Amino acid sequence: MVRPRTLPGRAREAHSRLAACYPGSVADLCELAFDSPFQLLAATVLSAQTTDIRVNSVTPALFARYPTPADLACAETGELEEIIHQTGFFRAKARSLIGLGRELDERFAGEVPTAMDDLVSLPGVGRKTANVIRSVAFDLPGLAVDTHVARLTKLLGLTESTDPVRIESDVCALLPPRNWGSFGLTLILHGRRVCIARRPRCADCALADICPSASLPTRKAPTRKAPTDKPAAIDKPAAIDKPAAIDKPAGAPSARSSVRGGAVPSEAPARPRKAPSRAPRDPPSQAPQLSR
Ligand code: SF4
Repeated sequence: MVRPRTLPGRAREAHSRLAACYPGSVADLCELAFDSPFQLLAATVLSAQTTDIRVNSVTPALFARYPTPADLACAETGELEEIIHQTGFFRAKARSLIGLGRELDERFAGEVPTAMDDLVSLPGVGRKTANVIRSVAFDLPGLAVDTHVARLTKLLGLTESTDPVRIESDVCALLPPRNWGSFGLTLILHGRRVCIARRPRCADCALADICPSASLPTRKAPTRKAPTDKPAAIDKPAAIDKPAAIDKPAGAPSARSSVRGGAVPSEAPARPRKAPSRAPRDPPSQAPQLSR
């Protein structure tokens, strides 16, 4: 097995291995069903926040009813919403599709443009969708950064960013343009089948020996910053009175203590002291606090 020493080398090796795992042309790798750039564009707009399977279940009826951008431009909103209802966010998507049909018909003579600037000027089309269209429909360079691509490229150490535009820029700089589209699509398939967000199957992964995140725990829940010390005390007044609050420093809850270091022990001992102060009942200042 090749063990690349450079970042571009790792990207090239990852692309090569993923291409072997998921063979086929860029169009083959796309799981959306389509027969034309217009159909792929409409299907990609519909794919936001849902699965390709669900999109594929509605597009035959959609394209039968509205075969051209001009037909879509004239669609009756309620009827269109009913056809695409299953894909979720159907009102916004119907608006985008009607606007898309109108713009394609009026500005591009019913054809889907290939230039990035033209594509992102269309309703409902961002860089991700534009790159799907460029790479899959036209075989042009384009890396579509979806949630899987963002996650896997970071796990593979190919980018440090969480911004899709920056990720696209970082990763594209590591590969020849002809590989951008296929790398993105194979990463998506790998993210769905092997490098699954909550439980990546590193033992089954063809990239394990070149992936800096291999076998590392990837559940990120403990890194959340929400449970700051003070709101927690307010939200759980009962816990202040109970022995559980006293146990916390010694018990050292793994998630919080591992992330926040000494914060928990330093705060926790202060809380139990409030409990004895209730017992005498004398200080009227304590009573209102405890009743909240
Ligand atoms: S080795 Fe593990 S973390 Fe790295 S890409 Fe494969 S499944 Fe994901």
